[in-house]
Amino acid sequence: MSVVLITGASRGIGAACARAFAQAGFNVAVNYNRSKENAESLARELRDLGVSAVAVQADVSDSASVRGMFDYVKANLGSVDVLVNNAGISRVGLLTEMTDGDWDTLLHTNLSSVFYCCKAALPDMIRAHSGVIVNVASMWGEVGASCEAAYSASKAGVIGLTKALAKEVGPSGIRVNAVSPGVVMTDMMKGFSAEDVAALRDETPLMTLGTPEDIAEAVLYLSSDKARFITGQVLSVNGGMVI
Ligand code: NAP
Repeated sequence: MSVVLITGASRGIGAACARAFAQAGFNVAVNYNRSKENAESLARELRDLGVSAVAVQADVSDSASVRGMFDYVKANLGSVDVLVNNAGISRVGLLTEMTDGDWDTLLHTNLSSVFYCCKAALPDMIRAHSGVIVNVASMWGEVGASCEAAYSASKAGVIGLTKALAKEVGPSGIRVNAVSPGVVMTDMMKGFSAEDVAALRDETPLMTLGTPEDIAEAVLYLSSDKARFITGQVLSVNGGMVI
């Protein structure tokens, strides 16, 4: 059975990915940072589906923590066949009011984390001459969002890293793609008022907002052999908000 490691899988899109991969028969490593209870109860739920699953704590913005996570997953489930870099945070506000510390935290959590996790996953994938990495970007990384400069920059960075790494490791039999969600109703949207959410829905050609499951389906597809000829691509799952 293949092993998938999903960062930030304790809630939201990452948790939906964990369920989708388990239903597809993967053994699943559920990474969390703070939401221990959620992650452990999700891992139990996945084991009830008949796969192996572990919850593994790591702050993905810290490279030593990421290395420890990979060691733990390898010892408990085996080497990682599919890596889903999903963990992320957002921050809304004027660039002029953003502190250097806020900038660093966001860039480390959303972008350096992808570097740390890819670096830890690749040696085993290269040895196996196979592997898949799916990075969760954002439509704001494609077009930029006002008052989300750091977030947009981090996700544009994820897209650039995806394309470059796909070229670098394609000859080693490894595919690297990104899924770029539009507005998805998770805790990340908690700061938005009902009016803001309604306005975002009205701006979306399909007139509906995304669910974590919509994103998980795209991540699972890119991880499957059905996508064997797809690498270096950004699959936008946004109801048509950005075309
Ligand atoms: P969410 O519900 O807020 O969940 C965020 C997840 O990331 C949690 O599991 C959290 O873990 C984890 N996380 C945060 N910082 C971490 C760290 N330092 N180390 C390890 N894990 C960390 O967010 P979401 O909406 O599911 O977002 C998931 C991804 O989709 C993010 O990359 C986000 O940028 C992207 N995205 C979301 C939307 C949207 O509209 N929701 C749109 C575009 C892109 P703990 O709770 O355990 O700390």
